[in-house]
Amino acid sequence: MKALTWEGKHSIAVKNVHEPTILNPLDAIVKVTTAAICGSDLHLYNGYIPTMRKGDIMGHETMGEVMEVGSMVKNIKVGDRIVIPFDIGCGHCQHCQDEEYSVCDNSNPNFIIPEKLYGHSGAGLFGYSHMYGGYAGGQAEYIRVPYVDTNSLVIPPGIDDEKVLFLSDIFPTGYMAAENCNIKPGDTVAIWGAGPVGLMAIKSAFLLGAERVIAIDHVPARLKLAQDCGAEIINYEDIDAITDQLSFLTGGRGPDSCIDAVGMEAHGHTILNAIDTVKQKIKLGTDRPDVLRRAIQSCREGGTVSVPGVYGGLLDKFPFGAAFGKGLTMKMGQTHTQKYMKPLLDRILNDDIDPSFIISHRIDIDKGPDAYEGFNEEKDEYIKVVIKMQ
Ligand code: NAD
Ligand code: ZN
Repeated sequence: MKALTWEGKHSIAVKNVHEPTILNPLDAIVKVTTAAICGSDLHLYNGYIPTMRKGDIMGHETMGEVMEVGSMVKNIKVGDRIVIPFDIGCGHCQHCQDEEYSVCDNSNPNFIIPEKLYGHSGAGLFGYSHMYGGYAGGQAEYIRVPYVDTNSLVIPPGIDDEKVLFLSDIFPTGYMAAENCNIKPGDTVAIWGAGPVGLMAIKSAFLLGAERVIAIDHVPARLKLAQDCGAEIINYEDIDAITDQLSFLTGGRGPDSCIDAVGMEAHGHTILNAIDTVKQKIKLGTDRPDVLRRAIQSCREGGTVSVPGVYGGLLDKFPFGAAFGKGLTMKMGQTHTQKYMKPLLDRILNDDIDPSFIISHRIDIDKGPDAYEGFNEEKDEYIKVVIKMQ
């Protein structure tokens, strides 16, 4: 089958590889109909996530048709159309029972690597390095889905793939980020990053009752979409003193909650970001946490900072004193996607939201390597790339 594979930093290839087979009685094999490229894939593309190997199959935003199921699968049958969450839950450990799927105790066979590197391991993830299980990803014609009863959402007939594909990751991610803000009527939410996750967070913040959302980015096309979603916008290229501006816009208080939908690869012209960039280049630092610093500095006393943006290692010059002094609540993490898929499908069926508005490119798999390059370099043009398999 054809698959998009990681060949090294800034190198993605279309390769012919072996089709997956059932390895475990709880597996299913799915013929992929649509997949997407995520901002998280860029952290792999840019070489910031360790333990990728040449030839690894990329992709964790995937849906398709079930072709084969293992002998112990109960809820899923051949022919079902399913969306696959990016994080893998076993469905049985205490965390999965508590709907904390992204910290499943059983799905990462290589847990020892993140335990050594980070002090703790999360769940296995599709197409996201060997330290997260080495699972083959979904930017391919077929994918093996472990524990498929837990890691699937059956889609009723008659709904286009594009409307439901993002239930695999970014819609639940934006929604959980907003839910983590504990929004109350009248609240103002500031969101850094108007990429797919930020845009889904804007929509979700409004769905959850926010009165105002302020979006911060520097890419005109993305800011335009944020505005179309009802957000006020700030281009951080025009306004350097973001914290002052947010204070000004909120009567001197600061936003009630701040969402960092950027993560470890923040851009910008601050001195601290310049230091982060140098340290990351010479491998003396793992992350560029400038957005997180600003979110903490900007948030009102007693407010909430919610972090869907991915971080990898140890953060430098982190204003924990400010966070402590302000009595902030901080919430973060990989999304417990399975918990949100069904309720958010209902939101889509109810016409509360159609997440497909973020799609900027529809390609076939052969154009995958160009799309990675474009998505990494030209954010004004590329917002979300969807790969059509047939
Ligand atoms: P993306 O790369 O498309 O978007 C990131 C946006 O951040 C870009 O528009 C960029 O211009 C903007 N940005 C960069 N520096 C900024 C700054 N200093 N201030 C304001 N904006 C800035 O990525 P995405 O797909 O939207 O994902 C966003 C983040 O969420 C990534 O870190 C991704 O890995 C993460 N993510 C996390 C989860 C999860 O489970 N927690 C799931 C999916 C994605
Ligand atoms: Zn993702």
